Amino acid sequence: MAVQTPIYLDNHATTRCDPRVVEAMLPYFTTHFGNAASRTHVFGRIAEEAVDKARAQLARAIGATTDKEIVLTSGATESDNLAIKGAAHMYRERGDHLITVCTEHKAVLDAHHALEREGFRVTFLPVGADGLVDLALLAAAMTDQTILVSVMAVNNEIGVVQPLQQIGKLCKDRGVLFFCDAAQAIGKVPIDVEAMHIDLLAFTAHKMYGPKGVGALWVRRKSPRVRLEPLFHGGGHERGLRSGTLAVALIVAFGAAAELAARELPEESSRVLALRQRLWDGLRNNLTHVHLNGDWSARAPGNLNVSFAYVEGESLLMGINDIAVSSGSACTSASLEPSYVLKALGVDDELAHTSIRFGIGRFNTEQEIDYTIARVTEVVTRLRDMSPLWEMVQEGVDLKTVNWVGH
Ligand SMILES: *Cc1c(COP(=O)(O)O)cnc(C)c1O
Repeated sequence: MAVQTPIYLDNHATTRCDPRVVEAMLPYFTTHFGNAASRTHVFGRIAEEAVDKARAQLARAIGATTDKEIVLTSGATESDNLAIKGAAHMYRERGDHLITVCTEHKAVLDAHHALEREGFRVTFLPVGADGLVDLALLAAAMTDQTILVSVMAVNNEIGVVQPLQQIGKLCKDRGVLFFCDAAQAIGKVPIDVEAMHIDLLAFTAHKMYGPKGVGALWVRRKSPRVRLEPLFHGGGHERGLRSGTLAVALIVAFGAAAELAARELPEESSRVLALRQRLWDGLRNNLTHVHLNGDWSARAPGNLNVSFAYVEGESLLMGINDIAVSSGSACTSASLEPSYVLKALGVDDELAHTSIRFGIGRFNTEQEIDYTIARVTEVVTRLRDMSPLWEMVQEGVDLKTVNWVGH
């Protein structure tokens, strides 16, 4: 049977809603449309019960012991901002120093930049060529003024999984709060806020087969009890941490997505991992000069980020336009700079521009992977055949020794 195109391999950008999630959500638009804060009548109480059930599903998916600690938000961007700005403002008397990593999501980086403008000091830790945080550097960066360390679970570009448990232990020993952006992690790699000593954890439905526009921040309630200054003021919803009428239908969907993510993680991660291995083996069997970006083993199962040397990034993407992927190249992003994540790994600009992020997910099939291997092979081969650089490489010329401007 022919593969249906376009093929979706951009599951780090967003995921398709699981039909089971949509089914769970639909009655809450029409039949059960109540406001979860309307405790005086049955419409409100039905909505509130549905939200409470979702909270429990969300808590279970991250190893939390109670569901009182889940603050519902509009997504991971809001959760990141609430965690970082909320903690910085609440603990300002204790210290003015924050630590994060230069490969974090923009929501985390820019929240820190905003705090710098208010007078906070921020250390942006570098990463190794493997994309991982160096624990010794993290320990050395901590001072008695440090109030918060923010490190993501799974990187959204290169898929590397940071050593959360060790980072959490380090923070706990030093009495520093640990915030983790786990938007790319839930349902992909095991997350346990207790075992990993996490104090604040952000996640979002649309990266885990739920709808866009709903997310959560888990906030530790004991040892230590974490307090935050809210971003929004109003009706005092979510224990005063996030005012605004709850998006009941989206929250029900988020809960259902979390339950599926937790239940299906073992089976799904090994299935997705096998697809990733098939893609990597296929590309490397057919092509030379294919570079992996980021560590191979500490990587979420669905991620493969590779650079194809001696092709032009834009032509490559145009050539495979029946496959939805994203790239570290300028032509797909708003800025002209190559990906700051690849730069932080020390990937040179040429290779960053020809990088492709394959994001494999729940709904991808072997046939789609095989089609992708064939298409990428065909396009990369064609582009290289047209390239004078490639011809020189084939003739054994070391391009680094070529004097391009001289005679
Ligand atoms: C997608 C993503 C976000 C932003 O989440 P939204 O729900 O779209 O606001 C934040 N952090 C990471 C790591 C992400 O992948």
